[in-house]
Amino acid sequence: MALTPEQEAEIAAQRGAPQQTLRAVSPGMEARLYSAHNVLDHGLVRVIDYMGDDSAICQAARVSYGRGTKTVNTDAGLIRYLMRHWHSTPFEMCEVKFHVKLPVFVARQWIRHRTANVNEYSARYSILDREFYIPEAGQLAAQSSQNHQGRGAVLEGAEAARVLDILREDAMRSYDHYEDMLTPDEESGKQGLARELARMNLPTNIYTQWYWKVDLHNLFHFLRLRADSHAQYEIRVYAETMCDIVRDWVPAAYSAFEDYRLGGVNLSGKAVEILKRRLAGEEVTQENSGMSKGEWREFESVWG
Ligand SMILES: Cc1cc2nc3c(=O)[nH]c(=O)nc-3n(C[C@H](O)[C@H](O)[C@H](O)COP(=O)(O)OP(=O)(O)OC[C@H]3O[C@@H](n4cnc5c(N)ncnc54)[C@H](O)[C@@H]3O)c2cc1C
Repeated sequence: MALTPEQEAEIAAQRGAPQQTLRAVSPGMEARLYSAHNVLDHGLVRVIDYMGDDSAICQAARVSYGRGTKTVNTDAGLIRYLMRHWHSTPFEMCEVKFHVKLPVFVARQWIRHRTANVNEYSARYSILDREFYIPEAGQLAAQSSQNHQGRGAVLEGAEAARVLDILREDAMRSYDHYEDMLTPDEESGKQGLARELARMNLPTNIYTQWYWKVDLHNLFHFLRLRADSHAQYEIRVYAETMCDIVRDWVPAAYSAFEDYRLGGVNLSGKAVEILKRRLAGEEVTQENSGMSKGEWREFESVWG
């Protein structure tokens, strides 16, 4: 479970006290604000705050005085134009602040995205909870033989059960030791180790939490990389949850992103030439394409 009843009550109280504002609000985002979306076994994503909506992107692009919106269709057309031509700064006018609870090994991949503002839960100041990511059976897979960075067939039977036992036992044992090291005992004169040191033995499947604030342009960049099938499952599920949130927040911008970035492909100069040769009836193979084997494989996976 990601939230305690007290945390649920705090969120309900925030959602139960709406305030009037002159600022632009997105109805889709208002419906999601503060609520937790569960991810993995103990993780969550929730929006703490946001600025802007689809019309804010158009307003910035037109540098208007008022709301600057035209019809919904005109705005959507402008947003598609901006996305198509990589005009990124109007998208930077929208911002969002997430609260994310995630395993440390996922956080380590996530933190590579340098264009966000981050504040993480301090394990020097506070004691970490006994919460570890234990994969579902369907996610326990063998090393892929084709992809050095990927997974292959799902583990089965006794092997899967043994892996789960090891993960659970290691997590519990290391947490017991963590607690033991932390805890003072007056009778025996045990002082208890500082929190900043005691955490050293904890495995990377323990959960951490952070606030992560980013603008829409850089969020789209993050989502393109991490909602992609090449991203590790454990970060991808967070990115997919965030995609759902962003779709509700800025529907026109998300639709353009989905079309041009998630659904689109970039063509190299060589690829354009090959497609032209193919359309002219020529049979192009890897050998006469000028592409390396790897590049050709990727080209064929899109174009057949
Ligand atoms: C599937 C996958 C596998 C990966 N495998 C590995 C791996 O094996 N090893 C590894 O170390 N990493 C790996 N990464 C991480 C990857 O190399 C990037 O570090 C990460 O995705 C962040 O990308 P970014 O720098 O574009 O994003 P951000 O840090 O969000 O930056 C966004 C953009 O801002 C610009 N920018 C930001 N900071 C700077 C800067 N200091 N100087 C210049 N331009 C800047 C760049 O244009 C950048 O694209 C992997 C990522 C993915 C998605």
